Amino acid sequence: MSLLKRGFILCCLILSPMTIAATPTSSPILIQGAMDIETTTLINALKNQSQITVGAWTFWQGTINDYPVVISRTEVGIANAAAATTLAIERFKPALIINQGTAGGHDPKLKRGDIVIGKTSFNMGAYKSDFTEKGKGIDPTKWQNFSVTMRLRDKGKLVDHNAFYADQGLVNIAQSMASSYKKGKVVTGIIGTADEWNREVDRINWLHKTYNTSVEEMETSSAALVAEAYKIPFIGIRILSNTDLHNQDFDPQTAVDCQLFVLDYTKKIIMMRN
Ligand code: SAH
Repeated sequence: MSLLKRGFILCCLILSPMTIAATPTSSPILIQGAMDIETTTLINALKNQSQITVGAWTFWQGTINDYPVVISRTEVGIANAAAATTLAIERFKPALIINQGTAGGHDPKLKRGDIVIGKTSFNMGAYKSDFTEKGKGIDPTKWQNFSVTMRLRDKGKLVDHNAFYADQGLVNIAQSMASSYKKGKVVTGIIGTADEWNREVDRINWLHKTYNTSVEEMETSSAALVAEAYKIPFIGIRILSNTDLHNQDFDPQTAVDCQLFVLDYTKKIIMMRN
């Protein structure tokens, strides 16, 4: 290659904002949200922005308080969340992952606007049923939850995971911010993930009683599974955008409030990492 051509390529590499953002000195914080209403506030908070789309999934790179952050729009549902998380880990090598967004209430103590810090999340939509004969009907209350079998990275051993645990340090920081959130309560709890939107109150109550779920949504445990496979610290933070236990319908403002909480949370983590 001629010296001139080599010089041109070098020049492009140095000048391209994408390259600068893709090779930060510190590993970025990855923040995920499924939909535009769950990511726009965070994207607007990014400085030195650049954007990249891989397949159907878009990532916004930039900085918050001079620290590299990647916002990922995962799209809705467990398959999308897993794909977006895998891509983000392979491309950006994040130091930690925050999955955040809206959710539906399962705990009668919680109202719209309350925030659940997911101590654990699990695949609420994985079921097996015992054999029953033709004509014996369908009874979802008898179905049993299926744990996720994962191959451990080091030993290659298959291990059942009936839940995925958030990083305890990340949970502690989120809890320490509870009093600064003015739109509702901040509690720790269990996040049930499934490609489902349940509105039968008896079913919601059954899920809460059986699995002690605080909320349901469609992405957290799927992203947590991939984070677990790569051993990357993970936390799910979900706001109640709706709860049929209190006749409260979906309110898009909650998605903004959750992002504002997560923004403060991210700044606190950055402060602690610097
Ligand atoms: N109501 C919205 C569509 C939401 S689609 C609209 O009409 O535009 C579902 C998304 O919202 C998923 O990303 C899921 O994580 C979240 N979600 C919020 N409340 C939920 C609930 N009660 N059950 C399941 N997912 C919920």
